Amino acid sequence: MEGLGVALRENRAYLCLSCGKCTAVCPAARKDAGFSPRRTVERAVNDDPATWLGGEDLWKCLTCLRCSALCPGDVRFSEFARDLRALARQRGSTGACTHGDAIFTWMRLMQDPNLRQNRLDWITDDLQVSEDGDTLYFVGCLPHYDAMFRSQGFEGVEIARNAIRLLNRVGIVPRVLADERCCGHDLLWAGDVEGFRALARLNAALFAQAGVRRIVTSCAECYRTLKMDYPSACGLKVEVLHVSQVLAQSLAAGSLALRRSALRVAFHDPCRLGRHGGEYDAPRALLAAAAELREMEHERERALCCGTSVWTQCGQVAKA
Ligand code: SF4
Ligand code: SF4
Ligand code: SF4
Repeated sequence: MEGLGVALRENRAYLCLSCGKCTAVCPAARKDAGFSPRRTVERAVNDDPATWLGGEDLWKCLTCLRCSALCPGDVRFSEFARDLRALARQRGSTGACTHGDAIFTWMRLMQDPNLRQNRLDWITDDLQVSEDGDTLYFVGCLPHYDAMFRSQGFEGVEIARNAIRLLNRVGIVPRVLADERCCGHDLLWAGDVEGFRALARLNAALFAQAGVRRIVTSCAECYRTLKMDYPSACGLKVEVLHVSQVLAQSLAAGSLALRRSALRVAFHDPCRLGRHGGEYDAPRALLAAAAELREMEHERERALCCGTSVWTQCGQVAKA
């Protein structure tokens, strides 16, 4: 089958030793005994795709990379699942999208190059933003999630406001773009490669037009996507930083002082910032300076996925 050999080769799935370590540490397999990354690789290597490519297993993987951290064959199972999803989509098979496809719909609406948005209403007077600076704060879909989940207590725009307040505190006055698009992370990992590339190209054109040389984001998924996927998708060459990295640099340089509180806190490593992006220390440096930081049982490379991935197959694993 066209594309399957490439997915097997590029993600090193041919080198699977069938040791089963991936299944043993997989948070999805822990809650769903019917799912096994080892068996998925085995079937992809040995079986006719018609017998497995349209099945649910492809969509059960959380793409958290936990298995790859231990795999003796360095099989990139997360990326393998992503690439198999793209092949499955070509055959008309997709995962079940949570929330009635509403979230993927706004990601598709943003692929219209003529779309004009007003994404800046949430910027309050106390926030300093620039009209012509070369550092961009990439907001991502926070305003959309805010509108969708506010009744459940999620205040997405407050996250964006606080990120800008913190950047202002260390002397950065960022730009915020009115026509920024979704980074495309969820479409890419759900196998909609063309949709992802369309968003990447539109964003790259906006960044170039605005003269952006550095991008700061507070979303771990945007961070991974802009830093690791945009260079090959649209040739993006600018520096990409997570907001915790900017603040930790300022803390280390002495230009940020944090008042220590009596709070006891733990940090959950997001898969995209930690295992995907390799950043474990910056958030901890900030938290340790401001509070008593305690480590959880599963931390850094061994951290557990939060349980949901690209808004598909939300079920017993996500909610367990
Ligand atoms: S851990 Fe790696 S080598 Fe072992 S079964 Fe899983 S994919 Fe194969
Ligand atoms: S990437 Fe995560 S969810 Fe997917 S098979 Fe590996 S450990 Fe399981
Ligand atoms: S856990 Fe599932 S239902 Fe709940 S917000 Fe996430 S995707 Fe939606």
